Amino acid sequence: MDYPRLLAAAERAARATTGQGRVADYIPALASADPESFGMAVATVDGRLYGVGDWERPFSVQSISKLFTLALALAHGGDGLWQGVGREPSGNPFNSLVQLETEHGIPRNPFINAGALVVTDRLLSLTGDAAGAVRDFLRQESGNPLLDTDAEVAASEAAHGHRNAALAHFIASHDNLHNPVEAVLEHYYAHCAIATSCRDLVLAGSFLARHGARADGSRLMSRSEAKRINSVLLTCGTYDAAGDFAYRVGLPGKSGVGGGILAIIPGRAAVCAWGPRLDRAGNSVAAVTALDTLTTLSGCSVF
Ligand code: GLU
Repeated sequence: MDYPRLLAAAERAARATTGQGRVADYIPALASADPESFGMAVATVDGRLYGVGDWERPFSVQSISKLFTLALALAHGGDGLWQGVGREPSGNPFNSLVQLETEHGIPRNPFINAGALVVTDRLLSLTGDAAGAVRDFLRQESGNPLLDTDAEVAASEAAHGHRNAALAHFIASHDNLHNPVEAVLEHYYAHCAIATSCRDLVLAGSFLARHGARADGSRLMSRSEAKRINSVLLTCGTYDAAGDFAYRVGLPGKSGVGGGILAIIPGRAAVCAWGPRLDRAGNSVAAVTALDTLTTLSGCSVF
């Protein structure tokens, strides 16, 4: 696989989307991102690392952190997690309140906000520091000791977090949180507000390409658990556009409103693309285009 050539082609295609989509501003601190930034990186399972554009520039990880909270909660606590959260696509926006009422406080999947709040709660019980566990895992796998929560973004999320607070209180009213709502929200905002780069994310996410094995060869989870996470990423990882993402890109992936998308080519590589302008579903226009280009030109997807 000629990754430098593929990345150059993906960058050209992504840059041609300039002007399409809008930078997220419902969290005010995200609105200052440079809309024309673009970066992309690949980490292969045999240790090669490639990047183009702004691939080493930090951006707000946002919902991509939900992949890591899920992985760590499963790694520490096992399958019991699935009693409190489902694994079906929601068919609703990521921050919707509607479904929770009819489904008695059990969120549809771990990647919508409601589901991520439940997973954060469980990780908090298991580790005592959910956001710290995510941050430390990202630091260890990426080898970047400076990676951390951006306090300004976390404060901005908290100040404008009425919807997440409503979700958390509603889940708590159904006894599906084990920790105080305030603590769950604090850890949720702190892991969403981690500043990281395409480089860091491909290194941290490549355990899913290695079927559950970490960079040092130790096992975070079994092969079967890694398969399951990849499956939920494929069906639920890119908001209410997971079908379109699967159609265009054909890889498991997780997006965030910071404009990043981390995708997995099982057995081969982790790929991350970033561009702050988002489409109506909340996925980065440039990142989806870049990943679409990479899998189309290489013929490499899970299908
Ligand atoms: N922290 C963001 C929120 O709760 C995450 C949204 C996202 O990236 O999907 O709204």
